[in-house]
Amino acid sequence: MSDIDLKERAGTAQFDQGQSIVGRGQREAARLTREWFSSLDKAAREEKKAAYVFVMGSMSEVLRTFDLPIVFPEVTSLQLAVRGMSEELLKKSEDYGYSPDVCGYVKSDVALHLAGGHHPMGMIPKACLSITTNACNTYFKWAEAWERIFHAPIITVDVPSERANGCKSMPQDIDYQFEVDYVTGQIKELIAKCEAITGKKFDIDKFRECLVHSNTMNVYYKKVLDLNANTPAVFNHLTDGLAYLGMANCFRGTAEGAQYFKELYEEMNYRVEHSIGAITRIDGKLVSLEQKFRLGLRGVPCYPIIREFDEMFSKWGGIFVASGYLTWASGGMSKPFEFDLNNPIESFAEGTVRQVREVQGGVIFDMPEIEKRGSRFNLDGVVYHGVKSCRTASSSLADRRFCSSEEQGLPILLIESELVDPRAVSKAQLKNRVDAFFEGLISRQHKEQMQ
Ligand code: SF4
Repeated sequence: MSDIDLKERAGTAQFDQGQSIVGRGQREAARLTREWFSSLDKAAREEKKAAYVFVMGSMSEVLRTFDLPIVFPEVTSLQLAVRGMSEELLKKSEDYGYSPDVCGYVKSDVALHLAGGHHPMGMIPKACLSITTNACNTYFKWAEAWERIFHAPIITVDVPSERANGCKSMPQDIDYQFEVDYVTGQIKELIAKCEAITGKKFDIDKFRECLVHSNTMNVYYKKVLDLNANTPAVFNHLTDGLAYLGMANCFRGTAEGAQYFKELYEEMNYRVEHSIGAITRIDGKLVSLEQKFRLGLRGVPCYPIIREFDEMFSKWGGIFVASGYLTWASGGMSKPFEFDLNNPIESFAEGTVRQVREVQGGVIFDMPEIEKRGSRFNLDGVVYHGVKSCRTASSSLADRRFCSSEEQGLPILLIESELVDPRAVSKAQLKNRVDAFFEGLISRQHKEQMQ
């Protein structure tokens, strides 16, 4: 088998033109990512301080109402890994006293700030406050590190979670309203704190505008995910999908974010109509990926070798058409929910309850569509990727794998590596496991054809 078996689709107008609709989502995501880092760099150089938040319950709409720059350290840390800079930072944080088994996102980020915040994509401003939810228990300790480094207050938004499988309160339940009221009170405290820090009065109309943008993003983000039920799938969750996730988080509540997802949906719809599947760029040309096996992904990517990791699958014609990552890490964008502009603060609290609960319970209890036989994504197999750093995303993968394989009869692959630490990634071992998985899929297909 050739190294990367890609079928070139260049030559048509859609692929030739720099301004063409095909590939626009990729280009715009790259431009907006650079823009986001530049805005942080500018804030840092002007000695403006930022709000540090997490993707799961970022409170972006509230913070944007106060014009606070927003830093997503999960995003800045993964960018360090993609750029091959995490190992050095991880070693520094371990010298500083962090244990090797602490989440690598935290350690890269702490080492970055201890060295002055010089990120390869721009300076990161210092924090004036940090906000955490209980979506991941590591968030609390990470925020405490910023509290010590920046002497900035932490605001914790405690979201009632699903305590056991099937115990999630539903909108018609009395507990649901108690939970929303509990979070509404915390959002009001957050607003008061932002007023005190910025010296600005909360502008509820500006907040409504942010909610309008998030509503638009929500609608189109979900539509884009749904389009991947088509054959060929229009994007790969392990490549372009990661860029969409970045846009959903870093541009949440903004006009740019709303426009991005509207246009992305337009591009993807065009591609469905013209049977143009997932694309990639090789030697400056856009080419479409061969799609022989439709895969689902549970777990998170392997950022230190992200390109090679994807090529382990794409060289066999494997494409990730669905993933848990693009749902639970999207800040609720993947689920239908519309903020009620007549009741903005309470509605924002309700949206927060839903998105954080989706992570807390969803990772452990829910069996999403991609792990069910006969899902509309028409999967040939599911890949479970556990990582040393992230227990939140890696918990229960072995059991889930068992359920998908034994109860649903889906071909599965369980692999383990790391989120950001290249020292815990064994390429040869991963490749052997992935190759064996595809050999099994091919032999299974042959058997089915013979019957
Ligand atoms: S443990 Fe996982 S979810 Fe929690 S901060 Fe680290 S990477 Fe994020």
